[in-house]
Amino acid sequence: MKKEMVYEGKAKKVFKTEDDSKYIIQYKDDATAFNGVKKGTIEGKGIINNKMSALLFKILEEKGIPTHFIELLNDREMLVKEVTILPLEVIVRNIAAGSLAKRLGLEEGAVMKKSVLEFCYKNDELGDPMINEYHIEALDLATKEQIEKIKRYSFKINDILGKYFKTRGIKLIDFKLEFGLHKGKVILADEISPDTCRLWDIETDKKLDKDRFRRDLGEVEETYKEVFKRIQ
Ligand code: UDP
Repeated sequence: MKKEMVYEGKAKKVFKTEDDSKYIIQYKDDATAFNGVKKGTIEGKGIINNKMSALLFKILEEKGIPTHFIELLNDREMLVKEVTILPLEVIVRNIAAGSLAKRLGLEEGAVMKKSVLEFCYKNDELGDPMINEYHIEALDLATKEQIEKIKRYSFKINDILGKYFKTRGIKLIDFKLEFGLHKGKVILADEISPDTCRLWDIETDKKLDKDRFRRDLGEVEETYKEVFKRIQ
């Protein structure tokens, strides 16, 4: 079923299948941070990110968000719809953390009056610079209609995931989404996992995400397992 590899990223490989409209994504244990400067392995991460993304994509689909997810194939692979990824990273933030806290001089954990949506230009060479809707249109990265749809989906995803994680004792601090075009339509692609979300324990604020790897906080593998156990 799996044919040639069409793409290899930092954490995933993408393969063609016999059906041109479907791809297979394979999740790796490789971890990188700071635009590839820090490299490592988080044992079992690929399995958790694959299964966690599958579970969350399924929930989002049920609530009306179109995603690329078709079905889970095995521990490390899922079948997805073929998409052309829009070169945008969409970040939604509920609590100040990471680069936003640094950029705006806020304490990590600072409560903001409302959620914030940011766009970054997906370009490793440039270090994924932050851009706004004018840049997106000017550089023809997406159309105005596509941007509107992406914003609407992203806030709805924030609502759905925020509530879901809360019932499992987890605060959704921020997360990154990527969208793609499938048969001309905008759909959610990529993954939703502790690699792409900041997740804090609701009681203790303990970091339950990739920041444990980025910042050498220890218990990295254990934490990925813990998050998956909680959200199942
Ligand atoms: N993020 C991601 N991939 C990136 C950059 C950010 O998945 O290339 C996620 C990150 O895990 C966090 C959110 O997007 O949940 C916001 O990240 P931020 O801009 O604060 O950057 P960071 O501090 O992670 O470099």
